Amino acid sequence: MANLILILGDQLSPEISALQNADPNEDRIVMAEVADEAGYTNHHKKKLVLLFSAMRHFAGQLEQDGWQVHYHAFDPGSKHKSLEDVVAAQLKEHSLESVITTECGEWRLHDQISQWHTRLGVQVEIRPDTRFIASKQEFADWAEGRKQLRMEFFYREMRRKTGLLMTADGDPEGGEWNFDADNRKKWTGKPAAPATFRVEPDKITQAVIKLVDEHFEDHFGTTEDFHFAVTREDAEAALEHFIDYALPCFGDYQDAMSDTEDWLFHSILSPYINCGLLDPLSVCEAAAQAWYSGRAPINAVEGFIRQIIGWREFVRGIYWMLMPDYAEENRLGNSRALPWFYWTGETKMRCMHRAIDATRRNAYAHHIQRLMVTGNFALLAGIKPEEICDWYLAVYADAYDWVELPNVLGMVMHADGGYLGSKPYAASGKYIQRMSDHCANCHYKVSNSTEDDACPFNALYWHFIDRHRDDFEGNPRMGMMYRNWDKQDPDRREALLKRAEWLLDNVENL
Ligand code: FAD
Ligand code: SF4
Repeated sequence: MANLILILGDQLSPEISALQNADPNEDRIVMAEVADEAGYTNHHKKKLVLLFSAMRHFAGQLEQDGWQVHYHAFDPGSKHKSLEDVVAAQLKEHSLESVITTECGEWRLHDQISQWHTRLGVQVEIRPDTRFIASKQEFADWAEGRKQLRMEFFYREMRRKTGLLMTADGDPEGGEWNFDADNRKKWTGKPAAPATFRVEPDKITQAVIKLVDEHFEDHFGTTEDFHFAVTREDAEAALEHFIDYALPCFGDYQDAMSDTEDWLFHSILSPYINCGLLDPLSVCEAAAQAWYSGRAPINAVEGFIRQIIGWREFVRGIYWMLMPDYAEENRLGNSRALPWFYWTGETKMRCMHRAIDATRRNAYAHHIQRLMVTGNFALLAGIKPEEICDWYLAVYADAYDWVELPNVLGMVMHADGGYLGSKPYAASGKYIQRMSDHCANCHYKVSNSTEDDACPFNALYWHFIDRHRDDFEGNPRMGMMYRNWDKQDPDRREALLKRAEWLLDNVENL
């Protein structure tokens, strides 16, 4: 009764459900770096290095622990281009009873694997991914019958379920569920942002860097200065580093942006959590412990935990509840192509340049850069959802369809009608000025709106408000914006719309 156990690149956990009750003497583990998965989008070079190297380290560990592992290393000449090819060849070569795997993070692949029982003529068992706190069914049950799905209420359920930051009486620690009001400070250079956690590439990682440079030369980004962890041990050290040096200020400066610092007080843990090197619940427990032992304040710890057991679980629930139709949504009717500067960073808009350039170098930008800079611009300019979604899926080391799609299509583009926010996160340059020091270094003037040197976000913001009157005027949270717009002098409104039209016609040259 030997089975083929398929472990995917984002399932690098010894506790993964596919391995439960498996027999190291009988069962055969299969892991594969295949052209179809590496090349179906323009994955950042650092994302490929992270995943291939972490997979190789994980496979090595499994072998050391006594498992039989078939590892298909990337080979451009291989006739096995897809996971299905590799699995089919293994089934042919060995007498294996069935395929066991854990549900994957992408509808596309899920759909393919679901057909293997007929295509490969073998029994296929797809097990739930128990690394998430809420199962897909649990989320669907919570969502059923609700008029509106609000993350905050779902989050409270997850707090109760996990007991994280809950008193023995079932109340939230600190007397509040949410301390976000304390988390909107601008960062002015003090306290100093901590040094980035770094792991020097070992021999395995160095070989993968060489491979990626050779075979994925035209992919986005660079392999230079690769310093991500690729083993569980190092990812745990990254978590400790975050708790010791960044978590205390994580809350205060969660929404801040800097012209000089790439990472600020963020955890940079999503690449590890998403590929399985870190367990999300253990990460939250470690953060909660930091509050109980007085090493970090409640606004930081609650805010951090909310991102993981709240937002992360919520977006996954939305994804699986609404796919595959979800990916086709475009409720604002956007039709503009993605400007080329998203791939080069060559734009005079300083905030955009900094966010895209950091993305190119690091395969990372923090949440507010993704939401309020590159995302906000795409929303205001009316970029086609599928093009901006493809960009986000390609450029970040933590990007997988289940988490990228709801964040971009829903939270940023409001293309789903509002599952991820009761109003769009649209903002003028004023927001960016309030939360960063970019504007002081910009070609454009944030205080101007209609002049030739005016910040593009300003006129584009009003153009967005004006062109989507039918979509948003009835939204109670947007009413004030429409009253403000209607109150403005007609000549000024005309000048703002004219400037916006010019910006949209010349979007490639901004
Ligand atoms: P921190 O700021 O330290 O936050 C802690 C953790 O909370 C993160 O590691 C992550 O696991 C979780 N988290 C925070 N916000 C979210 C969220 N909105 N959705 C899911 N998890 C969240 N996150 C991804 O993991 N993959 C993506 O592809 C992705 N794409 C995004 C695209 C856009 C347009 C936006 C606005 C957000 C996206 N996010 C994505 C969410 C968030 O920006 C990243 O999780 C975060 O920036 C990762 O950096 P960090 O680990 O330093 O996070
Ligand atoms: Fe960005 Fe406008 Fe500020 Fe320039 S002036 S950095 S474009 S918000």
